[in-house]
Amino acid sequence: MSTDSVCFDLDLIRRYDSRGPRYTSYPTAVQFSDELTVDDYIANARASNASGVPLSLYVHIPFCHSLCYYCGCNKIVTRNQERVAKYMGNLYREIDMQSELFDRSRVVEQLHFGGGTPTYLDNDEMAALLDKLRGAFTFDDSDQRQFSIEVDPRTVDEEGIRVLTELGFNRLSLGIQDFDEKVQQAVNRRQSVEQVAALVDASRRAGFRSVSFDLIYGLPHQSVDSFGTTLDTVIDMRPDRFAVYNYAHLPQRFKGQRMINADDIPAPEVKLDILEHTIERLTGAGYSYIGMDHFALPEDELVLARRDGTLQRNFQGYSTHRHCDLVALGVSSISGIGNMFAQNSITTMEYETLLENDTLPIRKGIAVDDDDLLRADVIQALMCYDALDYDEFGREHEIDFREYFAKEIKRLDPLADDELIELDTSGIRITPKGRLLLRNIAMTFDRYIGSEQNTDRFSKAI
Ligand code: SF4
Repeated sequence: MSTDSVCFDLDLIRRYDSRGPRYTSYPTAVQFSDELTVDDYIANARASNASGVPLSLYVHIPFCHSLCYYCGCNKIVTRNQERVAKYMGNLYREIDMQSELFDRSRVVEQLHFGGGTPTYLDNDEMAALLDKLRGAFTFDDSDQRQFSIEVDPRTVDEEGIRVLTELGFNRLSLGIQDFDEKVQQAVNRRQSVEQVAALVDASRRAGFRSVSFDLIYGLPHQSVDSFGTTLDTVIDMRPDRFAVYNYAHLPQRFKGQRMINADDIPAPEVKLDILEHTIERLTGAGYSYIGMDHFALPEDELVLARRDGTLQRNFQGYSTHRHCDLVALGVSSISGIGNMFAQNSITTMEYETLLENDTLPIRKGIAVDDDDLLRADVIQALMCYDALDYDEFGREHEIDFREYFAKEIKRLDPLADDELIELDTSGIRITPKGRLLLRNIAMTFDRYIGSEQNTDRFSKAI
């Protein structure tokens, strides 16, 4: 039985502050190899039609008008419309090629536009893209659909929000990060409270089912007090969800971060203070802690899914639709179909060249074996429900859990000694203290964890 409580234990967090995967997939993208071919992908996609499971589409729009210095996304900062038109032409070609692989009886229940900045596209471009997708796939137009889009408040007005609902979107996330002017200046992302408040009102009027805010802690010049002011403001706006991310300063890997003066970044103990206050403020304001970076109002479907067993982790974080095959479109995007993950080229030039030569732009991936599937389900159970019952899991997966995972269970002992988990003969339960260190616990069951850990391929756990 999962609880929604979370307990901030500074000593434990400091001791477990290592780098680790976020487990939006297992195996993680670090394990993908270029041995997986386009033909493998095509054969796997066609074979998946036998399952008849619904589809989830991810569409990556990589363009941004200006650079936010903290950004670690795959994006292209440009105002060159020719460049955008060329990409969209190739994206359309990819939609045609991908859609041919899937039976039209497979309904798209879930759609997510991510970036970059999806709302870089104007209303007409957005409508044309939705038309293209609707022509190529069968969309679910019922209330059950989950069509979401990442919105940069600087790129959309109230009319734009209305257009998004007309096109079928019913969930959106707004990139807020921090309202403090000094912080906004230091990261080159200026947006006002009034601007965001107007979009939230417009989203409510337009009937969006869920409005989510993204915040980041650990940005330059942040303090407990300054971030507290931002929290007061955003809590007043009452979004359905919050995603609160840790800023990872990796200037060797992300060039734009070199524009951030490292001396302005809050010290690790200040960052932890900010996190502690954030958790206190959000849970005090009635938000439930879902896990990892996510908080939601008690009536939000993520909280309900956590209770009724339909919560899952996927590339967008937490989600409620289990058992969809994920078809990803656009540069760098990752599909998860049947027992295979496949990633598109991460450079736009290669992505476009391959499509111009009528080749799907898949560059790497992994065919998942039975052991991977078992471990993925263990990690899913721990990250979504904070608990795992050995007998129940063993029955569902036709294994003797205690025997199969004997080594891993042994490796959990120190985590139990540190009270991150309760461990007994029946199973594992994550404690409120352990909930902030979910990935450290999940890593015990990751057979690939080794040399990649503590490299900058992964961010720190907190
Ligand atoms: S944070 Fe978003 S808007 Fe800013 S540069 Fe990155 S992808 Fe673009």
